Amino acid sequence: MIIVHKYGGTSVATTEKIMNIAKYLGRVKDAGNDVVVVVSAMGKATDALIKLAHEITENPDSREMDRLMSTGEQQTISLLSIALKTLGYDAISLTGAQAGIKTIGHYMKNRIVDIDAESIKKHLDSGKIVVVAGFQGVNEVGDVTTLGRGGSDTSAVALASALKGKCEIYTDVDGIYSIDPRVYSDAKKLPFISYDEMMELAYLGAGVMEPRAVELGGKYGVEIYVGKSLGEKNGTIITSIEKIKENKKMEQKVITGVSINENTIMVNVEEIPTNAQNVYEIFEKAEKSGINVDMISQNDVSSHHGSFAFTCPKTDMAALEKIGEKIEAKYENTSFIINPYVTKVSIVGIGLISNVGVASKMFKILAENDISFHQISTSEISISLIVDEVMGKRVAELFAKEFDL
Ligand code: ADP
Ligand code: ASP
Ligand code: MG
Repeated sequence: MIIVHKYGGTSVATTEKIMNIAKYLGRVKDAGNDVVVVVSAMGKATDALIKLAHEITENPDSREMDRLMSTGEQQTISLLSIALKTLGYDAISLTGAQAGIKTIGHYMKNRIVDIDAESIKKHLDSGKIVVVAGFQGVNEVGDVTTLGRGGSDTSAVALASALKGKCEIYTDVDGIYSIDPRVYSDAKKLPFISYDEMMELAYLGAGVMEPRAVELGGKYGVEIYVGKSLGEKNGTIITSIEKIKENKKMEQKVITGVSINENTIMVNVEEIPTNAQNVYEIFEKAEKSGINVDMISQNDVSSHHGSFAFTCPKTDMAALEKIGEKIEAKYENTSFIINPYVTKVSIVGIGLISNVGVASKMFKILAENDISFHQISTSEISISLIVDEVMGKRVAELFAKEFDL
């Protein structure tokens, strides 16, 4: 059996932790498994690398950023391989490119398109533990690329899929909770969660898993175990809704979880001449800059002018400011107002498809607590609100209590 393990930044933050992981991996190998391990950069190493570049310029070149950021994971793979070899295990470290991980897209936001797993298989066949750098790959012109923050999860799931192996993600929480346990200490751990609900929670801000990783898991049927302890299996399994329904122990709630996304900015474009071409111009510029535009809503249209709002990640601030300057320079009365002091709070649950009254319950809580919001959006299985940043945690807690999460 091939098992792909993934260890996040906190789990590999010190050489002592790396040594403990090596000992555990050795036991997994001794039990007769073929072991592939994907690791992140140590602790906050990726943040530190980004900070270095920002000491030089506010807007560093993204190709060079990929090269810089990819070095964090390369430290960890070497150290873990050294630890394994010290314990007497044969191990080899591979960069994303050496592991055959091919990507496309914008630098810093690349997507895995293909994995040529031959090299990994060859090393497994010769009895080695294969240690792969997460978060990185190589693009069509041979440049090292990264997959977006948190992207090591995606590397692990994609490798598990390519190798037809099991996928186990080890992190600093002992499973997936209905709401971030650091925000709400009464949050409940979920033994199972469906791909769709986890993807929605992750996409809407639950940082415990990278959304693309969950999407790949669902698409290729890779069950993902998420846990903390080395040994006991008391974490969460991300799997199909059919499997969950088969498991009678699982109580199906209308709402499964709440997510909070503080990495949100809201933009209000006011008094823009009403014309689809102008709106297109803004979103086209956003796309070209790789900005991930999210909730779009139109507020107000008169015969000549209109206003609309949208949200995007705070990390796209610099690119957004440039667009704002161009738009305000072009249209005399138009304002492009960027509000970084907002948070997105969302409720997620498959039960939203078939249950009425959830939205009214949600707005009743807001009304009773005198909480105002800026924007609303819905999907089949979620409702999201943009609220002032200072209210984010309070709103999430109120929803968690109301929906018994
Ligand atoms: P890693 O470095 O291992 O990838 P992350 O920091 O990316 O770890 O993810 C783990 C963190 O996710 C936890 O520390 C926790 O605060 C946060 N988190 C957010 N939402 C949830 C949730 N619903 N359940 C569990 N953890 C969550
Ligand atoms: N080291 C990268 C990051 O901090 C990737 C990861 O940890 O998954 O975003
Ligand atoms: Mg992570």
